[in-house]
Amino acid sequence: MELARAAAVLEELRAPAFRLEQLRRAVFDEAVASYQGIAVLPAQLRRDLEARLPLLSLSVRKVAISADRRARKALLGLADGKVIETVLLRPSPTRWTTCVSTQVGCAIGCTFCATGLMGLSRSLTPEEITDQVLFWRQYMRSEGLEGRLDNVVYMGMGEPFAAYESMAESLRRLLDQKQFGIGARHISVSTSGLAPQIERFARDFPQVNLALSLHSADEKLRSDLVPVNRAFPLARLSQAVGKYLSLTRRKVFLEYVLLGGENDGADSARQLVAWIKATGPRELLHVNLILFNETATRHRASTEPLARRFQALLLGEGIKATLRQNLGRDIEGACGQLVVAGGEGR
Ligand code: SF4
Repeated sequence: MELARAAAVLEELRAPAFRLEQLRRAVFDEAVASYQGIAVLPAQLRRDLEARLPLLSLSVRKVAISADRRARKALLGLADGKVIETVLLRPSPTRWTTCVSTQVGCAIGCTFCATGLMGLSRSLTPEEITDQVLFWRQYMRSEGLEGRLDNVVYMGMGEPFAAYESMAESLRRLLDQKQFGIGARHISVSTSGLAPQIERFARDFPQVNLALSLHSADEKLRSDLVPVNRAFPLARLSQAVGKYLSLTRRKVFLEYVLLGGENDGADSARQLVAWIKATGPRELLHVNLILFNETATRHRASTEPLARRFQALLLGEGIKATLRQNLGRDIEGACGQLVVAGGEGR
């Protein structure tokens, strides 16, 4: 739901001004999933609103739940018939995080990513992005899941910086106390490396976390894995991240998916160390190592011992590096696995 549109519809219906606050509270604070559940509104107004203002711009088609119940993936239908996926994760007993999509498919074409195989259909609207958060809040309420969803990562389908305007507006709404009220430090945006937008993001949202999907510090290999590297090679990326760091003094998370026999060797770790040292203060560059989730691509997963060795090499150079736990592998809701079966989303 868009608050501005809600205000306009209520005005058209000649409802008194205080109705907007009642509606806002029910939708954003209480995550009420149907107008029938908003008892403070008169019955006729509820019926009128139902006919003119859907509570969500998307509808749920399916929710898959992982065996350990710590990850859920929803297939959501959009008004034009396209579909996207969005994920809800519980990294700890009290914390919930959602991973939102910003596009239907993706044009970047990272070779290890299931979404990249789909190609791009279109970018999402700001409402379609924030409604993924609203959807999960409604879902949590209806399922009686305890805790609050107040962490959002832009790491689902699509390249957020290729949908910059939608992403920016959706961020403003998530940050708005009158809407989602999510703290900037609880939101992360991940990019495959669109250098000019990294610099713009530093100016526009200096408090929101930035993650960079680096995956290799070898020019040729990175161009192969993340084709946008041909447009913004490692030196340009280093310059953009350096600018981000000097403007924000905030930590950047470097995502590094470990692919067996490709980027998980000691040489690759040393190249990464050199890139980090050339880019900025190492205490501001944190490496997230991710064990590859096998998808229908030519790549295979690294092994845990190799991942540990890679991590040790980084730590030995004073670089913070964590091996990320992978939630949702069994429902294909983990990193790089989001794809709409049969290319339905195109
Ligand atoms: S990893 Fe991200 S940027 Fe790359 S193809 Fe997949 S969705 Fe697009």
